[in-house]
Amino acid sequence: MEKKVLIIGGGAAGMMSAISAARNNHEVILFEKNEELGKKILITGNGRCNLTNKNLTWENYHGSFPKFASSVISQFDNEKTIQFFEELGLVLVEEDQGRLFPRSQQAQSVVDVLKQELEQLGIQILTRKKIRRVEKIEQQFCITTYQKKKHFGDALIIATGGRTYPKTGSTGDGYRFAESLGHKIIKPFPVSTPFRIKSVVCNKLQGIKIIARLKVYQGEKIISDNTDELLFTHIGLSAPVVLKSSREVSKVLCLNPEAELKCSINFFPEYSQEDLYKLLKKRLVNNPDRNIGNQFLGMLPKKVAPAILRYSRINPEIKSKQLANRTLDRIIKIIMNYELPIDDVLGWDMAQFTAGGVDVREIDSKTMESKLVPNLHFCGEVVDIDGDSGGYNLQWAWSSGFVAGSSI
Ligand SMILES: Cc1cc2nc3c(=O)[nH]c(=O)nc-3n(C[C@H](O)[C@H](O)[C@H](O)COP(=O)(O)OP(=O)(O)OC[C@H]3O[C@@H](n4cnc5c(N)ncnc54)[C@H](O)[C@@H]3O)c2cc1C
Repeated sequence: MEKKVLIIGGGAAGMMSAISAARNNHEVILFEKNEELGKKILITGNGRCNLTNKNLTWENYHGSFPKFASSVISQFDNEKTIQFFEELGLVLVEEDQGRLFPRSQQAQSVVDVLKQELEQLGIQILTRKKIRRVEKIEQQFCITTYQKKKHFGDALIIATGGRTYPKTGSTGDGYRFAESLGHKIIKPFPVSTPFRIKSVVCNKLQGIKIIARLKVYQGEKIISDNTDELLFTHIGLSAPVVLKSSREVSKVLCLNPEAELKCSINFFPEYSQEDLYKLLKKRLVNNPDRNIGNQFLGMLPKKVAPAILRYSRINPEIKSKQLANRTLDRIIKIIMNYELPIDDVLGWDMAQFTAGGVDVREIDSKTMESKLVPNLHFCGEVVDIDGDSGGYNLQWAWSSGFVAGSSI
């Protein structure tokens, strides 16, 4: 039987759920508080939209129960996503690490083809409609806008996103709606965000990019360990190695804002301690009269060596032949383990994804339907699932949106 389906949120998940519900002949009304649909999609992948990834496993997903994601994604995986968008007319290109983008290099193309399909399916799109309240009154859902207009439907899909980049519209309203209908929320925290570091070193080295291994410690315990590009910024650290590590850091700080965390940078991750010793020793022996400060030229970015020597309390002016072996050992240890205290993560305005959200134990992974309230569905970032960077979060939005819309 055809149902009247109300969808709150015109982002990736909401649009996908609207298309799949309408393709199943339901009457769909899509509510979006912004003037336009898909505002966040436009800023994804630096405006190019990395919409999925060829290499997909459930290990790319996180949350209290990450396997929930695999059950959902197996119903609408990356291959189905590619086919879906190609059928809508989007031409895709694959880049490094399996990441897929529109060939136009414009996220706008993704929004355009989705909007075209929504229109073709006759979906009613109500923009500038910010939903204030959701209720279940007997068998019907009633949603009320800030303009105090009430809309009734047989099914409700909450696709309001998480809390990151609130200017795009995702301000966490969905958590309040879910709670008002009896659902539990796993405390959200920002993921994929730069670090604020309590040290002037970052400011001095700002702009330097290097491949490094970054370990994060809480006390003696290593809570993350990644190797990738590292960037020094005026207030701390950024780039992929930091964004990858930020989930664990954010999680700890979300539970205990006073937690003491430090990171250790290995500027030469591809070398063992012995190999690095041999490399440096050879340079010292070949150029015994060269200042130790100049021995690192061509080996590390120019500004990094003074920072390392300052940390090791070694005068960069001393001649290489005067350097004791144990001092060389100390330098090597610092090149491989340069410690900095983490002050904080940059938070909701700078984070890309939200971890936490609607507790998946109260959602059926086959349908994305609430186990507590019949005909209530959730999809996208509002749910307690987050993915790695590389197109995995949008894949989650497409998969969960498709499953929610097609199972009504
Ligand atoms: C800078 C940045 C770059 C990113 N790059 C990538 C990338 O390249 N690849 C990738 O996979 N992921 C990327 N992501 C993550 C990805 O954008 C999100 O995971 C995805 O867009 C979530 O989709 P969603 O539909 O669940 O939520 P959203 O896209 O946030 O959509 C939710 C919608 O609901 C609307 N809404 C909220 N509350 C209400 C209300 N009360 N009434 C009416 N409407 C409401 C909002 O206005 C919004 O339009 C990036 C994120 C950011 C911030």
